[in-house]
Amino acid sequence: MLIKTAEFIISNSDVDKCPKDHLPEYAFIGRSNVGKSSLINMLTNHKNLAKTSGRPGKTQLINHFLINKNWFLVDLPGYGYARVSKTEKKKFQKFITNYFEKRKQLVSAFVLVDIRHKPQNIDLEFMEYLGVSEIPFSIIFTKADKLKPMAIEKHVKDYCQVLLKTWEELPPHFVTSSSKAIGREDVLQFIDSTNHEINAMR
Ligand code: GDP
Repeated sequence: MLIKTAEFIISNSDVDKCPKDHLPEYAFIGRSNVGKSSLINMLTNHKNLAKTSGRPGKTQLINHFLINKNWFLVDLPGYGYARVSKTEKKKFQKFITNYFEKRKQLVSAFVLVDIRHKPQNIDLEFMEYLGVSEIPFSIIFTKADKLKPMAIEKHVKDYCQVLLKTWEELPPHFVTSSSKAIGREDVLQFIDSTNHEINAMR
């Protein structure tokens, strides 16, 4: 998919204030510092569309970006940041679950995980939550440039083995690196073909 336009539309913490358009929407989420902002910038070919954060946990908002005027890329806040208070964590959980439960336009989520790390409970539990809520999702492995090709293969295989303990079927997964622009076409192609399927059903 060629990215012709990528525009910031709105940031908010209230799902009812998200854009009313009925365009398909794809949400990006993961632990703070996983490389989400860098990935969004890489996918959209923008240096600064999503702000890369020096301080994790800073962007606690739902951010809508309109891509090619026909789909929304949604940047959700990073989870699992230890240095926020319990009250803030609860508030965060509430508006994220509100988003996933209420947002009819959501087609699919992308859960980002750092390819170097073993499966973390917080990510597995989040995928579990998406499964129970019947929200389709894919996994995006980030920072692949930090590993050699053989190690990439092994880490992905090991991760899938863990998933297969609880999942009958593996979600689609993508290996990416924002600094080396790896995996860009695969993710965009997935979104493009999903958009075509949706349009064909309408
Ligand atoms: P976010 O908090 O999930 O939005 O993560 P950021 O995009 O701000 O990235 C967190 C840190 O990881 C920053 O220091 C980035 O430079 C670094 N980073 C992000 N993506 C990559 C990548 O693909 N490769 C490498 N080597 N570093 C990355």
